[in-house]
Amino acid sequence: MRTIPAPGVHQMFREKCMVEDNKKVAPGHYVIRLRSRLIAPRARPGQFAQILCDAIGGGRDPLLPRPFSFLAADKETFSVLYQVVGKGTRLLSLLKKGQTLWATGPLGNGFSAAGGKECALALVGGGVGIPPLFHLAWELTRKEKLKASRVQVFLGARCKSLLLCEKEFKRLGVVLRVATDDGSKGHKGFVTELLGEFLSSFPATRGPRRVYACGPTPMLRTVSALCGRHAVEAEVSVEEPMACGFGACLGCAIKLRTPHSERPYRYAIACTEGPVFPAATILWD
Ligand SMILES: Cc1cc2nc3c(=O)[nH]c(=O)nc-3n(C[C@H](O)[C@H](O)[C@H](O)COP(=O)(O)OP(=O)(O)OC[C@H]3O[C@@H](n4cnc5c(N)ncnc54)[C@H](O)[C@@H]3O)c2cc1C
Repeated sequence: MRTIPAPGVHQMFREKCMVEDNKKVAPGHYVIRLRSRLIAPRARPGQFAQILCDAIGGGRDPLLPRPFSFLAADKETFSVLYQVVGKGTRLLSLLKKGQTLWATGPLGNGFSAAGGKECALALVGGGVGIPPLFHLAWELTRKEKLKASRVQVFLGARCKSLLLCEKEFKRLGVVLRVATDDGSKGHKGFVTELLGEFLSSFPATRGPRRVYACGPTPMLRTVSALCGRHAVEAEVSVEEPMACGFGACLGCAIKLRTPHSERPYRYAIACTEGPVFPAATILWD
């Protein structure tokens, strides 16, 4: 266990974590809960951990850790919800209670505070972009005591069986609307269509104060355009593939607008300056 001084903002920790449980929650999707003395109590919504997935097999294969947003965290454990897409996540899915792995975190900036118990907010999540929004909804309603009825949640998935965290959001009492590509649950179509309807139903002064979103890039790009059109602030969490997670490799650079400069854009490193950015600052090319 050792402390690494983070560039700038906060401290991060490298820690050996024990698996508490690792269970399937949807086809190809698992939630792993890890015992952690250093990362868990400091994890904020929108931040993430870099997890080394070589606990089975060893030999540092895969060589690089994989980034995962926090689904939940308390003083002693944190959980991530992951989809099996390749070698690292497949190895992760084989871990059993009592086995250990190395994790580094908390990393990244996280979502910013809501701004008052009465303010109305909208959370928009697609696929594995949903977990950090559940963490955010939990913190807003349970810790910051924001009225659950002021939190509007929009969830999107390809089909009903891949809709993540629906029951958990319902338990928080937030206002929930879902969309599936094939219409097997809720609105047939994209989750951004629901957000568009919702934003259109308000005069600019009475709508949500802020929209938070995480999901595939096309979804984030549409959220950004809709919020721009309705003059609503939006924060989006980008999930750029990344290697180190703390700004050393520069592999996760994205382009940000530079409105007051002669240059059309500048690069930002998503793992340290993000992964959460004001949507209006991102150059979606
Ligand atoms: C900040 C951040 C938070 C994330 N949070 C989550 C989460 O909560 N749950 C979750 O399931 N996943 C999350 N991801 C994505 C996750 O890190 C990747 O799915 C994982 O690294 C894949 O590892 P692998 O070894 O299984 O697959 P690999 O063998 O590395 O890759 C398999 C396939 O997935 C693609 N891929 C890898 N990373 C990404 C990515 N970031 N975006 C799109 N495609 C990718 C590869 O190009 C390849 O086609 C997050 C990514 C970032 C950057």
